[in-house]
Amino acid sequence: MVLKDKVALITGAASGIGKEIAIEYAKAGAKVVIADLALDAAKAAADEINKSGGTAMAVAMNVVDEAQVDKGIADAVAAYGTLDILISNAGIQIIAPIVDSTLENWRKMLAIHLDGAYLTTRAAMRAMIKAGKGGSIIYMGSVHSHEASPLKAPYVTAKHGLIGLAKVVAKEGAKDKIRSNVICPGFVRTPLVEKQIPEQAKELNISEEDVIKKVMLKDTVDGEFTTTADVAQTAVFLAAFPTNALTGQSVVVSHGWFMQ
Ligand code: NAD
Repeated sequence: MVLKDKVALITGAASGIGKEIAIEYAKAGAKVVIADLALDAAKAAADEINKSGGTAMAVAMNVVDEAQVDKGIADAVAAYGTLDILISNAGIQIIAPIVDSTLENWRKMLAIHLDGAYLTTRAAMRAMIKAGKGGSIIYMGSVHSHEASPLKAPYVTAKHGLIGLAKVVAKEGAKDKIRSNVICPGFVRTPLVEKQIPEQAKELNISEEDVIKKVMLKDTVDGEFTTTADVAQTAVFLAAFPTNALTGQSVVVSHGWFMQ
């Protein structure tokens, strides 16, 4: 029970990677707050955890809405007494070549990934500093925090930006024992990726099978997808790490697609 009695708020935890982290955190003893735009799905995820012996609650949160973010974090603290861990994970993907893309989609992508990370970080740091017990802030980056791919300009830009934010949080948070790190997964078969396979096939004029083999997994060491379990284990390790020695870092979990 490496996270026994820790309180963790995870954005975008109604689905995919965030949901798996919530489940693993509950198994590791944490009280988990599932913060998501999709409240019904967030409640269903919390129910699933509570039924299997964990402790979880759902809060409605659009990460780009300042008031909803502040309220969601305040509700978490009111319910569970404190906040020890923030996972800034909510995200979407919109693919298009730059020349065919729109300013509206560019702004939407940067808002969800970067404004969302900033707003949740600010609210979480305020709560952690007030409680005086330190904390761990983890951003869901991507191999695209380090590498580029065509068709993903705003996603790659935002994911690179999270590394900068995490480094500043590591420096500003140190005196209050707040650590900050980024997890950078390779491709994981969540709804976010399932949607992209036919979209990329169309954009690149290749088969869906070739999108998987020749685009998504081409540079891995073994042709394998990363799994939600791989990412969740990394999130447990980072949150449970006991000192400020591990801060301001990014951990790449990608079957060797990107090696740093
Ligand atoms: P997913 O689509 O399965 O889940 C995303 C969740 O975020 C959903 O529950 C959705 O409702 C929620 N969400 C979307 N917009 C939101 C908003 N404005 N406010 C609050 N919640 C919102 O996707 P996933 O693959 O689990 O992705 C989670 C994170 O992991 C994202 O940041 C994504 O960029 C990152 N990531 C995914 C992969 C991958 O291959 N799946 C790889 C690297 C990084």
